[in-house]
Amino acid sequence: MISQECYELGSKSSVIREIFSYGLKRKAEIGEDKVYDFSLGNPSIPAPESVKQAILELMELPPEKIHAYSPAPGDPKVRTAIAGSLNRRFGENFRMENIFMTCGAAASLNICLKALLNPGEEVITFAPFFPEYRVWVEGAGAVLNVIPAKLPDFQIDAEAFERAITPKTKVVIVNTPNNPSGVVYSEETIKNLCAILKKKSEEYGAPIYLITDEPYREIVYDDIQVPYLTKYYDDTLVCYSYSKSLSLPGERIGYIVIPDRIADHEHVAPAIAGAARVLGFVCAPSLFQQVVAKCVDDTGDISAYKKNRDILVEGLQRMGYTCVKPQGAFYLFMKALEEDAYAFCERAKKYDLLLVPSDDFGCPGYVRISYCVSEKTILDSMPAFEKLMEDYRT
Ligand code: PLP
Repeated sequence: MISQECYELGSKSSVIREIFSYGLKRKAEIGEDKVYDFSLGNPSIPAPESVKQAILELMELPPEKIHAYSPAPGDPKVRTAIAGSLNRRFGENFRMENIFMTCGAAASLNICLKALLNPGEEVITFAPFFPEYRVWVEGAGAVLNVIPAKLPDFQIDAEAFERAITPKTKVVIVNTPNNPSGVVYSEETIKNLCAILKKKSEEYGAPIYLITDEPYREIVYDDIQVPYLTKYYDDTLVCYSYSKSLSLPGERIGYIVIPDRIADHEHVAPAIAGAARVLGFVCAPSLFQQVVAKCVDDTGDISAYKKNRDILVEGLQRMGYTCVKPQGAFYLFMKALEEDAYAFCERAKKYDLLLVPSDDFGCPGYVRISYCVSEKTILDSMPAFEKLMEDYRT
């Protein structure tokens, strides 16, 4: 017998991937520009010019300097550059020892979960949440508990959170700016969350680690501030990725911040290295470690996402759809026009609108619209949204 768990994970693709595949098929049938595919979170803006320049400069170096294995936690110069950037931007005091280079946020989270959790321990996250969390938490042998969404603003329900914490709770995962809601947790939300974490860790006499998953940190609109969580709670690990901020999802590059002040640091830091080892990561891609070190304060030009957001929010609300205006990331979370979001998405397909039902995000009755597409797709899709609304009126 092989692993039933892995067999199941590998043989059924995610809802998002299924819709994306359907979109490819449909585009081949009726034409690329007639299908409005809002399924995937693949950045649509190009990587900044500085990324290309960095690659070109690095190509001048002897190949053995750029393609070799780096030390497992990453190239010391790269880690120093990242620590420096975080210190400048967030008033922190990190050193290279606090930075562990990874293959993106998925790797960062898997490494942290593997390092922190023992079988049967519990992880809490907040709906709506990125569906892969369930796969990763269960892959680490732990149990995922989901706090229902707080309506109408999709911030955190502090009371429900406090009630859900048990002596087995070891980790809490937050994702802000959030996929799929686009919401940024306010400073007040973060302060309440951290006060509860402190109170409960003291009550149970054991640390509860906060993992903050932040691939969208720099993708925020209207001068919204995203609190840097290590400033609010000592036992915080930051999982970062350049997939979205530099539009480099295929290059697999990110890092974990392991502050000196987290509880049991002398065991947690080696456990992070051990988890990366057992998961077979060896080291993060060497070329792209050096690329990001050269672009450490850069972000792609996100004005196109902002424009898409504004057109969508204005257009959809005018038609009568309900959604919270996203403050960050490139997703819009819209209420379906019937309770069953799957049925709603099926009906949307009649108009070649490809939307993702929200059930796997732990918040039924909504759809996720990934607006990291061209402005033309957004504009051309408006009549289809109009027809879908009409369909429900008749
Ligand atoms: N976490 C969230 C919330 C995401 O949306 C994604 C990707 O879409 C990831 C993690 C994984 O990102 P990466 O490409 O860095 O592994």
